Amino acid sequence: MNYAVILAGGIGTRFSYTQPKQFVRFAGRTLIGHVLHTFDKSMYINKIIIVIAPECKDFLDNILLNEHFNKIYKVVIGGKSRQESSRLGIAAIDEQNANVFIHDVSRPLVSQKIIERCALNLKMHKAVVPVVPATDTLIQTDDNKSVLSVVDRKHIYQTQTPQCFSLDVIKRAFELSGQDVGFTDECSMILKHKLCEVHMIQGDRTNIKVTFPEDIYVANALYNMNARQR
Ligand code: C5P
Repeated sequence: MNYAVILAGGIGTRFSYTQPKQFVRFAGRTLIGHVLHTFDKSMYINKIIIVIAPECKDFLDNILLNEHFNKIYKVVIGGKSRQESSRLGIAAIDEQNANVFIHDVSRPLVSQKIIERCALNLKMHKAVVPVVPATDTLIQTDDNKSVLSVVDRKHIYQTQTPQCFSLDVIKRAFELSGQDVGFTDECSMILKHKLCEVHMIQGDRTNIKVTFPEDIYVANALYNMNARQR
């Protein structure tokens, strides 16, 4: 069984809009609407768990009433950090043997192709993460004022979501991490505790993360571009 855990437990403090980021609309849907639509349609996803910020629960209920989704399994109230929200979402899975696709609601353009690639690779690997090669020149500094060195880009990639795991491995990662807070994603927990190889698969440049208000314009343009190519 493949579960999607959709992380919408934040309120997007860097986004500074009149409403929480996950409910901003573009191309006819809210961010969360786009994400739910894609996962709901995927033949590789059986059940969807939504992790939502307490102050946003009413907004979400409204969307779930007005749009028709078939695979919503549970709605869980999130925690104070992404890590905590992710732990709560995973804990909502009742069975032992499953895979979990953990996806940030801030990536509304996740494609069927990425979900498919993740699902197929999970048959051979216990941890799978979509990546794209870094294209900017990256520098390192030790005082945040001057450049110490330029990083060799050859082996540097940017990760995307969904990050996907066999349930036993990700549950073990959370157990071992205990009170250790500050992980930005699940992949780093697996690596810290050396639980298994984290397999890289090809992400997609259009699977952008909406962080700042201007990113909505980019998302809208990419959505239209993808729609034309379909
Ligand atoms: O803020 P940022 O976009 O980096 O958050 C990444 C993801 O983590 C988002 O999908 C956000 O909703 C989620 N999150 C969460 N619970 C929190 C904080 C963030 O589910 N307490």
